[in-house]
Amino acid sequence: MGAGNASSPLVRVERVSKHFGEGGSRVDALRDVSIDIFPGQVVALLGPSGSGKTTLLNVIGCILDPNSGSMELDGERVLESGRWLRSNLRQLRLDKIGFIFQFHNLIPFLDAADNVALVLHLAGADAVSARTRALELLEYLEVGNRKSSMPANLSGGEAQRVAIARALANRPRIILADEPTAALDSKRAGIVMDLLRKVAVDQDAAIIAVTHDDKIFDRFDRIFHLRDGRLDTETTGP
Ligand code: ADP
Ligand code: MG
Repeated sequence: MGAGNASSPLVRVERVSKHFGEGGSRVDALRDVSIDIFPGQVVALLGPSGSGKTTLLNVIGCILDPNSGSMELDGERVLESGRWLRSNLRQLRLDKIGFIFQFHNLIPFLDAADNVALVLHLAGADAVSARTRALELLEYLEVGNRKSSMPANLSGGEAQRVAIARALANRPRIILADEPTAALDSKRAGIVMDLLRKVAVDQDAAIIAVTHDDKIFDRFDRIFHLRDGRLDTETTGP
């Protein structure tokens, strides 16, 4: 299943901590979390509500500032002792990271192809190459036939696959997903997980997904359990 540990990690988190608030209202959302994730791995973050899963995903995704710790993403040291090493985090995210959310977050007034092409425009692609790549991605996610559909006319599973196509637009090798299958029935959840596996294999990417979804536990190479902001245990997939 997952790649062996001979390669260097795609995501390296070293002793990262994050708290919200101060004094009596302080919440320690992450406490000294360390984790290494390798190319080709499909990884789950599991834990009760409030255990820090989304916080960890958002720190790895460079959308939340941690208080301490260091991090490497795709071979680049991006965080050192709680300080970002790049001033332009937006560019860092565009270059390295794809996000998938529980609800697809597609833009309602753009069709499927334009939802994907938009991300490519933002990254500087011209209209023709953005469109071409968007159509390729929709084919890859097996929703090419829905390219002209508006989000409201897509099924939940189709919309999530368009959202995955969008997350892959800039060829990130780190894909972060917060409850990607929670809104889907088990058949469609399985299809989405199979496609994420295909991405991990084809692009030598790492998929990190927060999930509560026991329908899909057997789809992960590694399962990390969070409890009160600490990485508790790791269990290995089947
Ligand atoms: P999970 O995703 O596992 O449910 P979170 O990472 O969202 O947990 O939250 C971890 C803890 O941090 C919780 O106690 C939550 O209330 C707190 N928390 C998360 N985000 C904020 C925020 N923006 N401000 C204050 N507290 C927050
Ligand atoms: Mg959460």
